[in-house]
Amino acid sequence: MLTQDWKDRAKVRIAQLENMHTDEVIQKFKDSGALLEGHFLLSSGLHSSAYLQCAIALQSTAAAIEFGAALADRFRSQAIETVASPAIGGLVIGYEVARQLGARFIWTEREHGEMVLRRGFTVGKHERVLVVEDVITTGGSTRDTIAALQAAGAQVVGAASIIDRSGGRADVGVPRGSLATLNVPAVKAEECDACKRGEPLTKPGSRSTNDSV
Ligand SMILES: [Zn+2]
Repeated sequence: MLTQDWKDRAKVRIAQLENMHTDEVIQKFKDSGALLEGHFLLSSGLHSSAYLQCAIALQSTAAAIEFGAALADRFRSQAIETVASPAIGGLVIGYEVARQLGARFIWTEREHGEMVLRRGFTVGKHERVLVVEDVITTGGSTRDTIAALQAAGAQVVGAASIIDRSGGRADVGVPRGSLATLNVPAVKAEECDACKRGEPLTKPGSRSTNDSV
């Protein structure tokens, strides 16, 4: 019989980290309720055995400082002038990474579906920018942010996130780093093993924890 610890380890691919161990990051997420295990209906309509809500973990300013330090350490030698994050998810961790790097912080946001710099934010030609997100799932928000910055003339030198939910597969076109990689697939209901076992489906954020469909 497998222990729960073994099963947890099997789900989480161990990333190579010098500063903060991936297990520590995952444990902090679990302890804060930001990472739940079970049988979840995601907003995409897909089912997954893990539900992640980074904002829950980042309620703790102490945790944000720790994650920020671990990410900042990886890019400290890269002469980052500005950190840019896609709003809203990237704002808290992006600001903290920028603060620890002594860099400027700006953000991109969607306007009519397109990721843009607003609010008078500008970047200089060849300005060295790091893009920071809370979680990378497909890499779409980070890719769109990089495109907006490059179109404005910046040199995007890297991208970082606390969690990589793509299992390491998301390609954003620049070197990318994460503190922990989750390799938990999201699947269609008809392909879901938990559904086949008859396990009740939970819709995170809803009042009932047995909100089956
Ligand atoms: Zn299911």
